Amino acid sequence: MNDEEKKEQRRRIEALSSELRAIRHDIHKHPETAYKENRTAAIVAEWLEKWGLKVHRGLGGTGVVGTLRKGDSNRAVGFRADMDALFIQEKNTFEHRSMHEGKMHACGHDGHTAMLLGAARYLSESESFNGVLHFIFQPAEEGAAGAKAMIDDGLFDLFPCDAVYGLHNMPGIEAGHIGLRSGPILAASDRWTAEFHGSGGHGSMPHKGTDPTIAAAQFITAMQTIVSRNADPIDTAAISVGHIAGGEPNALNIIPSEVLLGGTARSFTDTTRDLIERRLHEIAEATAGAHSCEVDVSFLRGYPPTVNWREQTEMATRAAEAAVGAECTDPNLNPLPGGEDFSFMLQQVPGCYAFIGNGFSEPNEFVHAPHYDFNDEIISKGVNYWVELAKTELDDIP
Ligand SMILES: [Zn+2]
Ligand SMILES: [Zn+2]
Repeated sequence: MNDEEKKEQRRRIEALSSELRAIRHDIHKHPETAYKENRTAAIVAEWLEKWGLKVHRGLGGTGVVGTLRKGDSNRAVGFRADMDALFIQEKNTFEHRSMHEGKMHACGHDGHTAMLLGAARYLSESESFNGVLHFIFQPAEEGAAGAKAMIDDGLFDLFPCDAVYGLHNMPGIEAGHIGLRSGPILAASDRWTAEFHGSGGHGSMPHKGTDPTIAAAQFITAMQTIVSRNADPIDTAAISVGHIAGGEPNALNIIPSEVLLGGTARSFTDTTRDLIERRLHEIAEATAGAHSCEVDVSFLRGYPPTVNWREQTEMATRAAEAAVGAECTDPNLNPLPGGEDFSFMLQQVPGCYAFIGNGFSEPNEFVHAPHYDFNDEIISKGVNYWVELAKTELDDIP
């Protein structure tokens, strides 16, 4: 592609941006949470049909897949956007603020949906790839595993993909810059609980019973060694206590018979994830045993680590460099300890998950904050990335 053609592509994508901005604002105004994305899914499906894509609705609940075929190649690639909002009361006052009490697009999924729609629109009108593109609009990324619901409902049987790609906005990265990396890019997001049981008793006579408070306290300090002593220092992890409960504030002379703890665990590899689960059990049980108490530990697995495949990361890097320039592409982004259900797709199909910078806001709001908003200025860059990725992946132009 020569410079003139590149310019023309950018101009045509830029020409779509006011329509895409309007779609984004409309979706932002009408946020829908996990598996309730009926209005959003209907809008997505209607646009895709209008642009001539073959549309499948209601996959994994409210998921939508639009398929675009050009040329004679059967190579197929999936592009994924998430559509769901969060249970957050929006504090923005701009015109497109949420109309739904207690619900908000605070993670920018409105922008992801608009960018992927823009790519579908552009690619439906261009002859720049040879193969099959599946535009995957999924429900319930925020904790309710919509990607897995779509897979379980036959996503990759109905729409076999040779590769799959995801794109998420990220505040704190320069607007429109793209960051990615081969290997783990996001963490496994798991929860754990430990319930310590003892006899409890009178606070004046601790020797008459067993005290789960002491066992729980020692467990909290001892479990710090999972990260500092057990995990490989270059395969890091985070384990935090998020909840402690025991006793009654109006009964301070009583040793409680039960102390409940719970928290989160983040890891970037299955090895460290398994290690954390095993060591939480061992340390809790040994500590409880040392104090003649008992403990019930549970480790509740959430999303697995999001692990990018090498070859697809190279493709995505080439596409990012073509779309936003090499100087605005970081192929060695540090992994982030958040979780993503795109990880389930990457367990089935080779692919790559990338971030597009949302820029720096004042005050410096992160995703899931009540003033967060997707940056309209990056829509056309995101569309350009998807278009370049389609061309890179399916480059045998008929
Ligand atoms: Zn989120
Ligand atoms: Zn998100």
